[in-house]
Amino acid sequence: MKRERLAILGASGSIGASALDVVSRHPQRFEVVALTAQRRWKELLEACRRFEPRWAVLGEADAADALRAALRREGIPTEVRQGATALAEVARHPEVDTVIAAIVGAAGLPPAWAAACAGKKILLANKEALVLAGGLFMEAVARHGARLLPLDSEHNAIFQALPPDYDRSRPDDFGVRRILLTASGGPFRERPQETFPAITPQEACAHPNWSMGRKISVDSATMMNKGLEVIEAYWLFGLPPSRIDVLIHPQSVVHSLVEYRDGSLLAQLGTPDMRTPIAHALGFPQRLEAGVRPLDLVRVGRLEFEPPDLERFPCLRLAYEALREGGSAPAALNAANEVAVAAFLQGRLRFDRIPALIEATLAQLPKRELDTIEAVLEFDRLARDRAESLLAGEGA
Ligand code: NAD
Ligand code: MG
Repeated sequence: MKRERLAILGASGSIGASALDVVSRHPQRFEVVALTAQRRWKELLEACRRFEPRWAVLGEADAADALRAALRREGIPTEVRQGATALAEVARHPEVDTVIAAIVGAAGLPPAWAAACAGKKILLANKEALVLAGGLFMEAVARHGARLLPLDSEHNAIFQALPPDYDRSRPDDFGVRRILLTASGGPFRERPQETFPAITPQEACAHPNWSMGRKISVDSATMMNKGLEVIEAYWLFGLPPSRIDVLIHPQSVVHSLVEYRDGSLLAQLGTPDMRTPIAHALGFPQRLEAGVRPLDLVRVGRLEFEPPDLERFPCLRLAYEALREGGSAPAALNAANEVAVAAFLQGRLRFDRIPALIEATLAQLPKRELDTIEAVLEFDRLARDRAESLLAGEGA
């Protein structure tokens, strides 16, 4: 059997590492042909030793030079390429069957877009791509015969709980009443709100149940992650915002649920480990060994659920508002959030000021319809500039 040829975008990250782990368990089934990272060339070197891909792409030129030299020394034949154009080229290359889109942030949109327009199978972790350009992206997937499978654990769970022939253009025909996205509540679910100004990046990145990259860890702490996921779910599953609910579930073992007309609630459960949704999407419709410890429900003991607190976590409210408003609002939300999170991680913005900066940016931006991917990317730059200038007026 011909092996499925994979390009893993964001291979040096947390999702990238989990994907490589799953792939390494199935050498007869998958061939890694391209790996990419922004600057962590040593992680990429290690992955090139293990998988000998045809291409390795780095964002930064110095990192690309370092990797090229190291590969030559070791006699590894991988070709090193550099920059955003090379990244999009591997994503659309005819010798790639499947693209794992695991770059963080809006930077992941252009290569994911290239993959969609080339009709690839896309395993999407990069939720920001759908927040920025969901309508255009879903249209491109349909027009070019691409296949989109969600890696985000909640969306993968919903995908698993929906019928296999589910069509997002007519949820009512499948009896779907609503979907429920579960959220752990993050590290500050119970922390007194008056202490939020003192929260450090280290505290925000220490997630109770999941080990993830720094940006998504901060998003989980502000609950913007769940807000982005509501928007992601809107595009993936075609339900209006009023039929996408969020449920706090601190144990993170119920990964999300679908409620049907007849009162049935279908959920997917599992140990919180991204290798499960990755293996699910890689193998679909077959089930692959993922190396994940089975969930021991007796040890978990109890499952708890509570409603989200929108006053404590205004980012979730802001995301719903942006989704309801539509047009350029979700792109503005995402850009302002990326600027705010980066500033928080650099010690330039207090944790409790993150939602305020986002809300102020949204209020100042013009409302537009974004009809092309170029318009989306240009609006993203505009929104970042606006957020940066508002940030300059903030004393950290
Ligand atoms: P990470 O920070 O660990 O890794 C990010 C990857 O993106 C790295 O390989 C990095 O080199 C690459 N990258 C960063 N900036 C880039 C740029 N400008 N150009 C090209 N490449 C760039 O992040 P992560 O936790 O692996 O998350 C990746 C994506 O998956 C995010 O969109 C996140 O929301 C989503 N996601 C992550 C998890 C998780 O458990 N980590 C779960 C669900 C969804
Ligand atoms: Mg998630």
